[in-house]
Amino acid sequence: MPIELNDRIKNLVPYTPISGEYKIRLDANESYFNYEPEQIQKLQEKLPEILFNRYPDPYAKKLISAFSKWQGIDESCAVAGNGSDELISLILSTFLCENDKIIVFEPDFSMYAFYSYLCGLNTIKLKKNHDFSIDFELLSSEIQKSGAKLVIFSNPCNPTGRAEPRKEILKIVDLYDGCLFVVDEAYMDFSNQSIIKEAAQKENLIVLKTMSKLLSSAALRVGFAVANKSLCDTIKAVKSPYNLNGISQAFAEILLSDIDFIQKRAEIIIKNREKLYAELCKLKNVLNFPFIPYKSDANFVFIKTAAANAIFEYLLGKSICVRKFEGYLRITVGSKEENKALISALKEIQTVR
Ligand SMILES: *Cc1c(COP(=O)(O)O)cnc(C)c1O
Repeated sequence: MPIELNDRIKNLVPYTPISGEYKIRLDANESYFNYEPEQIQKLQEKLPEILFNRYPDPYAKKLISAFSKWQGIDESCAVAGNGSDELISLILSTFLCENDKIIVFEPDFSMYAFYSYLCGLNTIKLKKNHDFSIDFELLSSEIQKSGAKLVIFSNPCNPTGRAEPRKEILKIVDLYDGCLFVVDEAYMDFSNQSIIKEAAQKENLIVLKTMSKLLSSAALRVGFAVANKSLCDTIKAVKSPYNLNGISQAFAEILLSDIDFIQKRAEIIIKNREKLYAELCKLKNVLNFPFIPYKSDANFVFIKTAAANAIFEYLLGKSICVRKFEGYLRITVGSKEENKALISALKEIQTVR
């Protein structure tokens, strides 16, 4: 007799990111910068200090200290996770029970609805406006009507690249103090609407931050949740004791010790983004369909096109990998050379009306 799976997970399949060797990877919003040789040197020098035979610090205190300094918050107001992904899952299972109502948006990062589904929550999906802004009035009335316990969204949004004004978010956070707001600022290093400092002060706000994007450390799997001490203590009480491995703790701490250097990269990436956006706007038509990029506050550009599938396949044939959605493409900002190669590939299939 095969073991019986519950209905919720019966039909799930393993996540399969795009595999294979591609020359240009613009599909996952990673940084195109790898570590500098001096950084690698520091990591190597750190290795002998790591006690591989011992369990790591369950609260990653040194790392949290470096992170808090960077963000200008108190050390008691941050928790480290094995990527933000772990924290999203952890927060939903910590603060909600089966059948509780949670509000997510469409489009937004798919992991929110996924973990919500896994936790057996009652997921309310709110459509965004045509320009992909959040309809705060709709959100407000939905919170009242449904009694939702938690609202989660990314700001700037993945995949649209749009940032909501911090003022609007703080207003609704203050208005509904019985509802927990989780704002995922994975891409806020490329924008300026952060509410991470406020999170340490508010009763009902958690801000997530990751080292996977600007900080070039997707392989380390390090994310942070910032909230008041009491919310942080609750998350610490629920998490698995050794969720963040010792190597990642030590390496991430080193990277955060030279944050000026890393923040200069944000300026370079933003410059490349503006150039890429301007070039994409010039295309107008690709494969006979209108090609409409959206202005971005992140390190990628979202594009509306009815030819998304065909363009995606064409680029793959050129060894350029981008992310495809139904009727849209999302293209990570690459290096100057990578962006140039992308644009010239798109020009080859551009048609002029
Ligand atoms: C990339 C991304 C993350 C990062 O997740 P990690 O698990 O820290 O790598 C989180 N949220 C959003 C919206 C993202 O796009």
